[in-house]
Amino acid sequence: MKIGFIKSVGDDRCPISQKNIDKWKKQNIDVLMEDGIGSGIGLTQIEEECSRETVLSEADIIYANNFNDLSELKSLNGSKIVVSFFEPYNGKFNPEGLPANVKIFSMDMIPRTTLAQSMDVLSSMASLAGYQAVITAAVQSERYFPMMMTAAGTIKPAQTLVIGAGVAGLQAIATAKRLGSRVEAFDVRAAVKQEVESLGAKFVEVEGSKDDSAAGGYAVQQSEDYLMRQKQEIAKSAAKSDVIICTAQLRGKKAPILITKEMVEAMKFGSIIVDMASSTGGNCELSKDNEEVFHHGVKIIGNSSLFLEKIIDASELLSNNVYNYLSTMFYNGELVIPENDEILQASMIYPKY
Ligand code: NAD
Repeated sequence: MKIGFIKSVGDDRCPISQKNIDKWKKQNIDVLMEDGIGSGIGLTQIEEECSRETVLSEADIIYANNFNDLSELKSLNGSKIVVSFFEPYNGKFNPEGLPANVKIFSMDMIPRTTLAQSMDVLSSMASLAGYQAVITAAVQSERYFPMMMTAAGTIKPAQTLVIGAGVAGLQAIATAKRLGSRVEAFDVRAAVKQEVESLGAKFVEVEGSKDDSAAGGYAVQQSEDYLMRQKQEIAKSAAKSDVIICTAQLRGKKAPILITKEMVEAMKFGSIIVDMASSTGGNCELSKDNEEVFHHGVKIIGNSSLFLEKIIDASELLSNNVYNYLSTMFYNGELVIPENDEILQASMIYPKY
């Protein structure tokens, strides 16, 4: 049995670590790695390295952080398992032309359950990105985060607004607090109020949000009336903020616009918005994915991949998540893929169970 790891376009995270190679070997499972896949984390010149073609032809399980196009998968020979992130909920996966004996698993379909937490790459990366968003804002801002008392006068602490208090948002709140900023946070899920407050931030409350308890940890679309009241509250908070971190997402849908052009124009000169929802349209009306936009003295950074900024730690978490996930496909070193495994069942996208 061989597990192969291949490189991905625009993503230098290494999905396999020496520690996890050793764990596979102990189970008599061989690892193959495309040449250079570990160069960003110093994992080089090891016996597992080979060409991409060798990995694709010899490995029984093939993992990549992404497959830019599916043509490589269409020409796979033999019975193979392919694991990656295909975003089927965004309509990005078209199985047309895939061989019948290939099974495809998409790790972004892993359910948000306690059991699946150790395999949840989206969560581990959201946590890193939440931290990095605040660091990015702190570096790029022309103001300081903490209060500074000097003989020349006192600098007030920065005011940060975090929109969306999920995994990324909570990490952003904690990071901004640690840097000495005052923090307000907002989320449609009223259940997060306590978590926000326990981090020392103020929760901006809007009454009457729709019940999302049956949505599996994802937010649900809100009524027009609620959205209008929400906008008023956010506008008040945005006008006094030096930094806004946007993390609000609706899975499989366009991100909600929560910071309008008018709100940006009412912000203080030199403020920064880091929009982590930019890949699905952004929470700020003016955001552009992977670009910096200047408007009315405000810098808007659109970046949904901030977890790629520090690839050594990102690779470590990714490689552990991937190891934990692939392990569920084995029993005593044998590939089994149990049909009653709810995590595998939810994440197998081709053919469907
Ligand atoms: P996400 O990335 O889907 O969304 C980010 C946040 O934006 C969420 O908190 C969401 O409520 C919020 N949001 C959406 N629309 C909004 C709007 N219009 N205004 C303001 N906020 C809005 O979510 P996430 O960060 O991945 O996680 C959400 C929840 O799921 C968290 O409670 C998290 O702990 C839980 N979760 C659990 C697991 C697990 O148990 N395995 C894994 C991942 C997440």
